[in-house]
Amino acid sequence: MNVKLPIYLDNHATTRMDPRVFEAMKPYFLQLYGNAASRSHSFGWEAEEAVENARKQIADLIGSTPKEIVFTSGATESNNLALKGIAAAYADRGNHIITQVTEHKAVLDSCRHLERDGVRVTYLPVKPDGLIDLDRLRDAITDQTILISIMYANNEIGVVQPMEEIGKIAKESGVLLHSDAVQAIGKIPVDVDSAGIDAMSLTAHKLYGPKGAGALYVRRRDPRVQVTAQMDGGGHERGMRSGTLNVPGIVGLGAACEIANREMPEESKRLGFLRDKLRDNLTNNLDEVYVNGSMEHRLPHNLNLSFGYVDSESLLMGINDIAVSSGSACTSATIEPSYVLKALGAGDDRAQSAIRFAIGRFNTEEEIDYAGDRVIGAVKKLRELSPLYDMVKDGVDLRL
Ligand SMILES: *Cc1c(COP(=O)(O)O)cnc(C)c1O
Repeated sequence: MNVKLPIYLDNHATTRMDPRVFEAMKPYFLQLYGNAASRSHSFGWEAEEAVENARKQIADLIGSTPKEIVFTSGATESNNLALKGIAAAYADRGNHIITQVTEHKAVLDSCRHLERDGVRVTYLPVKPDGLIDLDRLRDAITDQTILISIMYANNEIGVVQPMEEIGKIAKESGVLLHSDAVQAIGKIPVDVDSAGIDAMSLTAHKLYGPKGAGALYVRRRDPRVQVTAQMDGGGHERGMRSGTLNVPGIVGLGAACEIANREMPEESKRLGFLRDKLRDNLTNNLDEVYVNGSMEHRLPHNLNLSFGYVDSESLLMGINDIAVSSGSACTSATIEPSYVLKALGAGDDRAQSAIRFAIGRFNTEEEIDYAGDRVIGAVKKLRELSPLYDMVKDGVDLRL
């Protein structure tokens, strides 16, 4: 088999830049290096034109207008700006925000920050399939609620939330809806109008663009959403985000959106095929394999599996030529089971045996076959060493 090692299957963490994106960015480093805010010469005009072109490319992908795009340094900043900026702008209307427990840390930690400032935050639980319960969402809304923040698709389990229904609930209640759509944009169709989204975070490096370039979509009509700037400065980006624009990064983000928009239908089909092939290979050749999160409401390129009686850290070491991530996050010296997997109600065992596979644009079928076979071999080897697995196979019931 002719595969180049190591194989990258960690496309939820970041993606390789598409060479076409790189080509689009190149002139903006060495030749067209103007400041997009310079109004008095062609260097500035050319930079501004490139930025406005990118704004349109992003808007076309998400069904917004170009003026509704605010450039940031990435989705961490976009999430901070959305949550803190909306909380500040609407403080006279209410002081309650609703989010959910499986959000990215950039949302959860922004909420913690707001709680210290006196904002009340409801963290909705998720069902075992990773989706929120819409009745619980409805019940959580009070006359003090100003914002609902629910991610479009999860970065660990790939579960896609019912955004259109969430959007309807928000609209009926007169509450704004923000969505961290980093993992969904460019992978599945996202339309801010049909999903009723008022603010939305995205980042270039999760869709084959450069790191350090992102955007916040901010609705301008029905309703006109207010966002209080979180940094003081020159008042760029309609006063919401000061700072000289990262022109090459923005050009890259625009190009990445343009490519995704064009190629998504075919690409998502191909990724879905590879993902299902990987899943079938693993589940047909191994027992005690569990899918984490809904298979039906899921990004096409995500697979998150738990391998019973296998510790994911040991498995990672056994497949060291395949770049995947485990269901755990190393915080300092300790290995914590993933809070996302724990939120599904699965025990620590399930979380500690989980592996996230995230297939991307540049993966080939040969790579997926190779990766699957490597995992099968490594799991079998680890189970041979597992007294627990032996006992279960001998008919000892360990489940109490
Ligand atoms: C990667 C990621 C972020 C953070 O984006 P950065 O641009 O790296 O700051 C936020 N939310 C989700 C769901 C992500 O996957």
